[in-house]
Amino acid sequence: MKRVPIKEALTGVATGTEITVAGWVRTVRTSKGGFSFITLNDGSSLACIQVVADEQLPNYRSEVVHLSAGCSVAVTGQLVPSQGRGQTVELRASEVQVIGRADPERYPIQPKRHSFEFLRKQAHLRPRTNTFGAVARVRNTICAAIHEFFQSRGFLYVHTPIITPSDCEGAGQLFRVTTLEPGRGDEQEDFFGRRTNLTVSGQLELEAYACALGNVYSFGPTFRAENSNTPRHLAEFWMVEPEMAFCDLQGDAALAEEFLKSIFRAVLERCAEDMAFFNQRIDSTVIETLTGIVSSEFVHLSYTEAIEILQRAQRRWEYPPTWGAELQTEHERFLTEQSFKRPVIVTDFPASIKPFYMRLNDSPPPQGPTVAAMDVLVPKVGEIIGGSQREERLEVLTERMRGAGIDPEAYWWYLDLRRYGTVPHAGFGLGLERTVQFATGMANIRDVIPFPRTPRSAEF
Ligand code: ATP
Ligand code: MN
Repeated sequence: MKRVPIKEALTGVATGTEITVAGWVRTVRTSKGGFSFITLNDGSSLACIQVVADEQLPNYRSEVVHLSAGCSVAVTGQLVPSQGRGQTVELRASEVQVIGRADPERYPIQPKRHSFEFLRKQAHLRPRTNTFGAVARVRNTICAAIHEFFQSRGFLYVHTPIITPSDCEGAGQLFRVTTLEPGRGDEQEDFFGRRTNLTVSGQLELEAYACALGNVYSFGPTFRAENSNTPRHLAEFWMVEPEMAFCDLQGDAALAEEFLKSIFRAVLERCAEDMAFFNQRIDSTVIETLTGIVSSEFVHLSYTEAIEILQRAQRRWEYPPTWGAELQTEHERFLTEQSFKRPVIVTDFPASIKPFYMRLNDSPPPQGPTVAAMDVLVPKVGEIIGGSQREERLEVLTERMRGAGIDPEAYWWYLDLRRYGTVPHAGFGLGLERTVQFATGMANIRDVIPFPRTPRSAEF
């Protein structure tokens, strides 16, 4: 059986010829006149093909009329112009092979609207729905666009380890990796002879490669034991991290802007059908927002300016904005959705709220020392990118580590990068799922990754 993707069949180029398609039944309508209309989807696109099967088929009474949502079938037939609304071609079946049945009494995905909460409990079957099929295709396009962006600019794709002894963010949101029985043995007896965890970021290791190969990036799974049940946090998510030698914060911000634009341009161009679906069913502003981003200049703002804007805003905050405190999601969203109505790059955050590896600024504002950090904020999602210029000065870096209570000895190799041929360098991390969320308008991050990992939830 040489199967034609339904997406290809629907272009109509093969009209008048015999083809075979295979997929899963969405709906079946049987007419009294001895016909059945079967809508079939194979995931190649949002659209289904209509199959017309008639009673001449040898298995018409025994099998075809009993088909229901979820059954898998392979259909061979003539592709003909269709009279029906919203479709140019349909398939006149000469053979319908029923491959797998799906008990209509028990198959959970019925042809009606299911809530996303319900579908999370059917994570193995939800890709058969319009929404989750479309999410998977957009996610795929974003991943391809990410690699194309970096590859076309000569960045090397580097694989950083998933099991690591380092704690990049220093926030204690680590998943331990151990083979010790709970409460038995100490770290020296553990598998690696030391404490290890799942990576929270590949940045430190990536810096080693940037400080040898110039422009590099990693793209892989990242783990954070964030016990926060929010629509924007997962315990396992995918992160893209470019790292550039001989680059400062400005160059970093410029890359971030170009990068986001190229991703969203790819989505608009290559996923038009899926995007029309999201715009109609999920968020009626999503295409307009993406189109706006592709053509608008991002706003650049220092953290200090951001705090002043927030303090001047006539608004009741859950967390009143004060210099020296983290920007909360309500602050981030206000800046990008209300103040500027486009993406905002906030730079130069107080050193006290940022990790040790971010470069200490030479001329800080009167409020206190700042670091060359940046967050890129977009409407609805808030922070989509976090990045910084890295501290390349050995003494300053060692001092910052001590100040953060980190033993510089534990990072001897990281300090070697400053001891031997140090260079200014910078990079950032883009959360893949936040990008998919933003591109699709999906409200909950659990609905843009196939099998979400969140507190108290790892069923699949
Ligand atoms: P936030 O403040 O939103 O929790 P963060 O400051 O901890 O994020 P970074 O350490 O800067 O995030 O990570 C880089 C990017 O990775 C973020 O901009 C975001 O897009 C993504 N990200 C971070 N944490 C998560 C998470 N738990 N789930 C999904 N994506 C995440
Ligand atoms: Mn961040």
